[in-house]
Amino acid sequence: MTPHHTTRPPAGLRRLSGQGALALALCLPWASQAAIKVFACEPEWAALTQELAGEQARIYTATHALQDPHQVQARPSLIAALRNADLLVCTGAELEVGWLPVLLRQAGNGKVQPGQPGHFEAAAHVRMLEVPARLDRADGDVHAAGNPHIQTDPRNIASVAQALSKRLSDIDKAQAATYQARLADFNTRWGQAMQRWTQAAAPLKGLPIVVQHKGFPYLEDWLQLRQVAALEPKPGVEPSSAHLSGVLGGLQRQPAKVIIRAAYNDGRGSQWLSERAKLPVAVLPFTVGGSERAKDLFGLFDDTLAQLLQAAP
Ligand SMILES: [Zn+2]
Repeated sequence: MTPHHTTRPPAGLRRLSGQGALALALCLPWASQAAIKVFACEPEWAALTQELAGEQARIYTATHALQDPHQVQARPSLIAALRNADLLVCTGAELEVGWLPVLLRQAGNGKVQPGQPGHFEAAAHVRMLEVPARLDRADGDVHAAGNPHIQTDPRNIASVAQALSKRLSDIDKAQAATYQARLADFNTRWGQAMQRWTQAAAPLKGLPIVVQHKGFPYLEDWLQLRQVAALEPKPGVEPSSAHLSGVLGGLQRQPAKVIIRAAYNDGRGSQWLSERAKLPVAVLPFTVGGSERAKDLFGLFDDTLAQLLQAAP
């Protein structure tokens, strides 16, 4: 299998969108004394924690959907939020390797350090894909744990929900019954939704796709999509025009039907290929908040399927 992506140092200061700034304003300071304070690295885990904990948790989300989760600036506001957290909920699998270790060091909060009950990594609870058979420096700094973008398969969300609910009970024993009841309710609603999604997605089976970033192996596995090319020459590297021309040439031998990119990706490479190869681009929300419709985890998958079905011929 091809290794997933290179590891890069945190990028320079990134401007927060209005939405992100608003989310920060709403989340700080922690509102209630009784609730546990959760620091979620990505919006999908904030949304899942919300489903499982409801009013029992005050959730701070470190990134928003239009941000590249590989590259985050360790801002003082993030450090302050982590310093006060009872529980950290992140993807793991080295997705946050460029920024979370710095935050953890600077926050100096013993409760959320790796190995502590307050440190929860979602990727530890799913079957990982694209685990490299070898680690070769020529491929860049390869992620030994496999592809970290696990949130694009709802079966993974279900597995993580199970483990996260248990973790919530472990660190907040007084509310264990509440967490159990909320998990049962979530499982019922999620199971029904998964049935609906699987039925709706039937026409997508075998669909040949081009991806911009190798961010969708779990979606491909779930829906049995067939990735025939990636626009990034190496994960995390924007394609050069020579590389794009190569992809265009390759599509003549191995045609695709749709180009897929995440809402946070730069759209230029996809657009270039779309015009020349006469292929539609499906912009997928990738996480909660990545589109108007992806307001929660259910909306995330509703919209992902709607975009794919609309783009697929
Ligand atoms: Zn990635």
